[in-house]
Amino acid sequence: MAEVVPVTGVWWDINTCPVPDGYDPGCVRQSIESALANFMGPSPVIIFCYGNLEYVPPLVLKAISDSGILLRHALGWSSLSLELFDWKDTNPSATTVLFISGDDQWWYMTSIKTHFSRTLRAFPDLEQPVAYPADFFASLSAKKWVWKDLLEEKYSGPCYSDTTGQMDCVLNCQFEWWCSMCMFPGENCSDFIDHLKSVNHRQELFGLVWPWDGNPVDICELCDYPYVDDKNMRIHLESEEHAHNVKAAGPSASHETEAIFVDNSKEYHEENSKEDHEEEDHPT
Ligand SMILES: [Zn+2]
Ligand SMILES: [Zn+2]
Repeated sequence: MAEVVPVTGVWWDINTCPVPDGYDPGCVRQSIESALANFMGPSPVIIFCYGNLEYVPPLVLKAISDSGILLRHALGWSSLSLELFDWKDTNPSATTVLFISGDDQWWYMTSIKTHFSRTLRAFPDLEQPVAYPADFFASLSAKKWVWKDLLEEKYSGPCYSDTTGQMDCVLNCQFEWWCSMCMFPGENCSDFIDHLKSVNHRQELFGLVWPWDGNPVDICELCDYPYVDDKNMRIHLESEEHAHNVKAAGPSASHETEAIFVDNSKEYHEENSKEDHEEEDHPT
């Protein structure tokens, strides 16, 4: 029987570790595989590009996908940990994971020590989050890279040769494009982008931040965009969509561009709930 080689799972947060200007997004996969091969020899690798993909240029997403990286639109930490441990369940032989992120929450994953024997990390820059003691990382990471250095890695030895078709099986049971929020599988890049821009997707986002606890929801009133957390607020405020709407709104709105926190989610839901009832029933 053909030997099953453990697959290394890579989780790449494209929001905090974006593709640098001038770097070909289609080469990210090769660089990650080279870095891993230089560290531990050639082995099968599956890469998930993870995060808020709404504001990543479609051409970048397509080049990443075409290179064999799986795209996951997912907001927040809980979504990642669910998918990570789900993946481990279907790949019990996996022992190594690489996390590429500058998000503090990704560093708290002490529970991965019980699931994976080797944890590798890449940061956006040399500075590690200051809130943690230095030995915290030493105990968690077998190897660390700075993201831009990792992208420069080249591997000169022979590549991993999958003579068993193992990676075909691993990849075939994964969606190439997936919105974790809506549980929506995109058929291709344009189908997925259409979904991210759709009314249904935006409504799902509002549902995610709906204030069950009575606290107001932070929202960009100009763009009608709710913030799941501070990270996603920053992503939105730095987006072209937001800049465009600020420009269109004129000088009177410019002083509000830093942060627009208006609790108008109730009005949004009242308006949309009328339409919802006519279309379909969402479980509460
Ligand atoms: Zn969606
Ligand atoms: Zn906005």
